[in-house]
Amino acid sequence: MNAMPDQAAAGPSGRARIPTVAVLGAGIMGSSVALFLSRKGVRSVLLDAAPAPFSGASRWNEGKIHLGYLYGADPSLATARKLIPGGLSFRRLVSELIGRPLEEDCWTAQDICLIHRDSVTASEQAFALARQVAELTHACPDADGYVVPLARNPPRRLSRRELEDLCDTRSILSGFETPERSVATNRVADHFVAALAACAKIEKRMGYRVHRVKQQSDKRGRWLVETIAADGTPETFGPFDAVVNALWEGRGAIDATVGLIRARTWTHRYRVSLFARTSEPVDLKSAVIAVGPFGDVKNYNGRDLYLSWYHSGLLLESHALSPPTVAMPDEAARIRITEEKFAKLAECLPGIATVRTVLQSAKLRGGWVYAGGQGALSDPSSDLHRRDDIGLVAKDSFFSIDTGKYSMAPWIAQEVVKAICDRVA
Ligand SMILES: Cc1cc2nc3c(=O)[nH]c(=O)nc-3n(C[C@H](O)[C@H](O)[C@H](O)COP(=O)(O)OP(=O)(O)OC[C@H]3O[C@@H](n4cnc5c(N)ncnc54)[C@H](O)[C@@H]3O)c2cc1C
Repeated sequence: MNAMPDQAAAGPSGRARIPTVAVLGAGIMGSSVALFLSRKGVRSVLLDAAPAPFSGASRWNEGKIHLGYLYGADPSLATARKLIPGGLSFRRLVSELIGRPLEEDCWTAQDICLIHRDSVTASEQAFALARQVAELTHACPDADGYVVPLARNPPRRLSRRELEDLCDTRSILSGFETPERSVATNRVADHFVAALAACAKIEKRMGYRVHRVKQQSDKRGRWLVETIAADGTPETFGPFDAVVNALWEGRGAIDATVGLIRARTWTHRYRVSLFARTSEPVDLKSAVIAVGPFGDVKNYNGRDLYLSWYHSGLLLESHALSPPTVAMPDEAARIRITEEKFAKLAECLPGIATVRTVLQSAKLRGGWVYAGGQGALSDPSSDLHRRDDIGLVAKDSFFSIDTGKYSMAPWIAQEVVKAICDRVA
């Protein structure tokens, strides 16, 4: 067993003991928690099955720093209300965590939201919701904290001429500018990995698959974390004063081992997208085709792009507590998925053809999306169109986090660290 140095009793010097926390999962969620804990002087052990931190969804996603504009099928605005604080604080908190400002060339110009003819939300409804989201955002005390200063004017609808210049209007009915931006997540990931490496208060244990967490029966009720090492050897870590479960797709199974049972249904989807690099800059706008199972184009700096089309990148969907292992596409499947993405995006955005002509490299990468709820994105009543039931649940000093969105992780991490310090520090 990997025993933690026991600082439980106050030593002869009378100094207060320092708690030790197990953080399960080294994506943006677990890494943010571990780094914030270290700022409070709390030691942690960061465990992940992958050989390196940030190997999953947190490295390979489109990096939209959500303010809620995309959730046009949630007219209650509950999703926007939930996402706004995370979006507004993302830049400040990430800069604090990685110890440097985020570089300007790692985020896109503002996003254009294009309403597809098969959208689950009519153009008028989507635009009305966007105006309400803008009002909500501007009413926040840290409205100036977004990745770029937010213009005070409401979202602007594209003119017919602008729409025709940008889109194939047989597929796209309308569009409007939103202030939302996206960050290049693989670059942000590199900065996090460097910050973790430099932090002596975080013990990094990569290559350990967690399969159970057990509470000890003594009066302190500390926790043991049971794992299988990459070579197949069982190893137990602990005891810990608190455990943070940030395992994303692996979270439910570990919650169940401590008796935390989910009240609602859920969906795990493994999605891959195209991370493209061009040999010369392309003048292509960042756009999201909404609302439903469509696609996105993100242009981070002219040469690094993200291209997605929902159905061609959906490798697996599962409602099991532990989703099965995903078979990665072979060369033939990679070519087919890539071709499909270009073809489907070109039906909406003909300008995508310019990327083809100067394409230098294209990687298909992705990760799991976990969401409470079930159904199809093409169904307006599916609760996958909401993302407000996310965040923290706890049992004693075991904390389990549904990150919900990449853009929410640093914000939620702050809350979790406060809850841990209130409870065990
Ligand atoms: C294609 C795609 C596009 C997306 N676009 C956006 C977007 O634009 N904006 C946005 O905000 N969000 C987006 N998301 C969602 C976002 O990526 C996730 O919400 C976020 O990255 C989750 O972070 P995490 O740290 O919780 O999970 P992860 O980064 O997946 O980290 C979890 C870690 O847990 C480890 N793990 C799992 N089970 C075990 C186990 N049993 N034992 C040990 N380790 C284990 C994994 O190896 C992994 O490293 C997107 C996701 C995908 C896939």
